[in-house]
Amino acid sequence: MKERHTHQPHAYKEHSSRRDGRHRPRAIAITLNQWRQLARDQFAGFLRHEARWAAARILFTVYMGLCLATLGLFGFMTLPVISRLFFNTWRFWRFGHYYPWMLLQGYKVFAMMLRDFRYRFMFSVGLTEQPMKSPDRNITRLAGNWVHEENTCHNCSRCCEKIGCPLLDDRDMCLSYNSFYWRYYLCGRFPTTRQQLDYYNCPKWVMRYKDF
Ligand code: SF4
Repeated sequence: MKERHTHQPHAYKEHSSRRDGRHRPRAIAITLNQWRQLARDQFAGFLRHEARWAAARILFTVYMGLCLATLGLFGFMTLPVISRLFFNTWRFWRFGHYYPWMLLQGYKVFAMMLRDFRYRFMFSVGLTEQPMKSPDRNITRLAGNWVHEENTCHNCSRCCEKIGCPLLDDRDMCLSYNSFYWRYYLCGRFPTTRQQLDYYNCPKWVMRYKDF
């Protein structure tokens, strides 16, 4: 008890000396340093994540543009890259027979995006958006009458069939699962809006809020 009493005045003194303004510049300096550190961390985080995702999407768009503009020639000259982007493997020979269909699909999707505003809107994913492997559960939930596991679509492949996706194998399994294309664009994060659910007539997911 005694000790506590003897220490209290010192504590008060220090406190009061801060209050009289003598320590104020130091306090501001610390605050500024903390602010700078925070800004540095934020910027480093932005470079590590959003900037990297945006750069990857811009490169992908330019690359696909070159493939389509050269009638697929650029893609055929760089098949390992196509294979890596869409099939998650550099072993391009494994999926060689899919490439002509993918090229056709590329033109088809491009034409759909030009023609149908609804489709263009639905396909859009922000440049800096995080790649995703599953829907955002903050805005989606499983439909009440969905009786299967969350990690399966059971026998359904409506969304893939609706756009005639050529990346399904003969058991209707997605060959592009978990690839760059799948994670960075719509497949991995589907659905993100109610409009998408209606368009693809998906029986599995519903949006949690009516604004989406
Ligand atoms: S429409 Fe829905 S349930 Fe069917 S495959 Fe697509 S995401 Fe799965």
